[in-house]
Amino acid sequence: KLYNEVQELKGNIRVYCRIRPFLPGQNSRQTTIEYIGENGELVVANPFKQGKDTHRLFKFNKVFGQAATQEEVFLDTRPLIRSILDGYNVCIFAYGQTGSGKTYTMSGPSITSKEDWGVNYRALNDLFHLTQTRQNTVVYEVGVQMVEIYNEQVRDILSDGGSNRRLGIWNTALPNGLAVPDASMHCVGSTEDVLELMNIGLMNRTVGATALNERSSRSHCVLSVHVRGVDVETDSVLRGSLHLVDLAGSERVDRSEATGERLKEAQHINKSLSALGDVIFALAHKNPHVPYRNSKLTQVLQSSLGGQAKTLMFVQVNPDGDSYAETVSTLKFAERVS
Ligand code: ADP
Ligand code: MG
Repeated sequence: KLYNEVQELKGNIRVYCRIRPFLPGQNSRQTTIEYIGENGELVVANPFKQGKDTHRLFKFNKVFGQAATQEEVFLDTRPLIRSILDGYNVCIFAYGQTGSGKTYTMSGPSITSKEDWGVNYRALNDLFHLTQTRQNTVVYEVGVQMVEIYNEQVRDILSDGGSNRRLGIWNTALPNGLAVPDASMHCVGSTEDVLELMNIGLMNRTVGATALNERSSRSHCVLSVHVRGVDVETDSVLRGSLHLVDLAGSERVDRSEATGERLKEAQHINKSLSALGDVIFALAHKNPHVPYRNSKLTQVLQSSLGGQAKTLMFVQVNPDGDSYAETVSTLKFAERVS
């Protein structure tokens, strides 16, 4: 039944748009959101402009409005998570400008309350429950890696003190199937284990950063979950994986203003986000050549993009009128790959 549920998803790439609410104290209450349809339609408009051609219509697999809860969002994500235990590789991204709710969707605002949990905690929680219900027939092992990609360098953020060693990426056709074999692998058996690990990861992410938000918005954070199941009767082995990716902010950086480090960071982010767009575009259009090698991000994710893999992208939107230009560019990016 679960298998059917997954098969019904149209193609292997889905795009969900999520609009975050206005935050307390956000002074402009002029919204760009004109209309949200039942079937994934979204109309945005520039509230500061009058006249013709001010509205744009987009269509996604689903649009979550400002009132959508973490739980509602996860309900539509769950079938994908479950397919991992059937041997699929799954990749879930959050894309959008800084402040649009990427981290909120993927991790949540805090982990103290279960209601706040984002997709990654809920996904792992669900995986553990499922593995337990099947434990008489299949014995599962779940391992977790967490890396940060900053300026095209891959760094392990689960090793002691957040090692600054740059890690290499391997061709995942190799026997262990790991894209970043030198990133530490942590076996987890419960959601508590995962919570603990992610806390370490988040702490290590800020090492050397001047301000927490600054750094995290300019690097990609990839949480990789590797599942190995052994059938107790036949001894056959099934592997599945899940990559949960909180992408760097997609905002365009003004070339005339950015210099030095900031410009370099912006160029790396641009390059990797367009490489990601190109890969998903090629997959969605069944192009024979998929350009994985153009960025570290797409190389790390290669095994869970394409082939039998399933991809979900959350397109995050800040409803503020001032964000109109960024919002349109975010939605266009998403439209291109969906
Ligand atoms: P990003 O990771 O894209 O930079 P954040 O996830 O940090 O953005 O979100 C920016 C702010 O908006 C945070 O204070 C976050 O708690 C809040 N926020 C984002 N999405 C929601 C939501 N759906 N409901 C309530 N608050 C949200
Ligand atoms: Mg963030």
